[in-house]
Amino acid sequence: MKERITVLGIPFDRITMDQTVDRILQFMKGDRCRTVYTPNPEFVMAAKSDQDFTEVLQCGDLVIPDGVGIVIASKIQKQPLPERVAGYDTVQNVLEKLKDTSYTVYFLGAAPGVAEEAATKMKEKYPGLQVVGTYHGYFTEEEEPAILQEIHQLKPDLLLVGLGFPRQEKWIAAHQSTLPVKVCMGIGGSIDGMAGKVKRAPVFFQKIGLEWLYRLVRQPSRWKRMLQLPLFLWYVLMENKK
Ligand code: UDP
Repeated sequence: MKERITVLGIPFDRITMDQTVDRILQFMKGDRCRTVYTPNPEFVMAAKSDQDFTEVLQCGDLVIPDGVGIVIASKIQKQPLPERVAGYDTVQNVLEKLKDTSYTVYFLGAAPGVAEEAATKMKEKYPGLQVVGTYHGYFTEEEEPAILQEIHQLKPDLLLVGLGFPRQEKWIAAHQSTLPVKVCMGIGGSIDGMAGKVKRAPVFFQKIGLEWLYRLVRQPSRWKRMLQLPLFLWYVLMENKK
């Protein structure tokens, strides 16, 4: 069985949640910066007209299916991915493993003040977790060197980057070779989730693959983005017919 499949040109690792967490923990023992990306159908659709974004995702050390649409696509292609591996849940599972260890974490992203709030909440939830720094995601080009300098000083093992796609993945790829970090992961809106600003759908919705519907009802402004989902499935069906 292939370990990595592609959906409309974007790679996905055939890996379960437990294996994903193990792999990230292994990366943290490594000697260079590894990248973890979590595409959903919206990423794949955006990548169709953004070659740089496509190439960045293709170079990811670990690429996991954040959306149920990707798992459905893999089944249509008859190369099924074992399960949806949601970025938010992955982060939670990794942080749980890092509590009471010497590994350190840095949160970069979300509106001013939110990353600090997320750090406080995560330190309460996972006692012994070492969040060594935070910075918001609305920094200017002029501010960026100071952020990079801080990361160089703190040398966090895990850098969680929530700047929204494709900015976060492009930012990670641009800095991967110089960052003194073991794992750099693009996490979208997860910092908002950790700070309690955005609620995850109840487990019931997640289990039946309708988390997207729950999010749409709670944040109707996302409807335009969500139109990408049927279009994505249409492209996958067409591609599979060829
Ligand atoms: N964000 C940011 N800087 C930006 C644009 C967005 O830090 O220039 C943050 C935003 O505040 C939010 C996250 O990036 O916390 C994007 O969240 P979303 O749920 O839209 O995630 P996506 O679906 O893009 O992965």
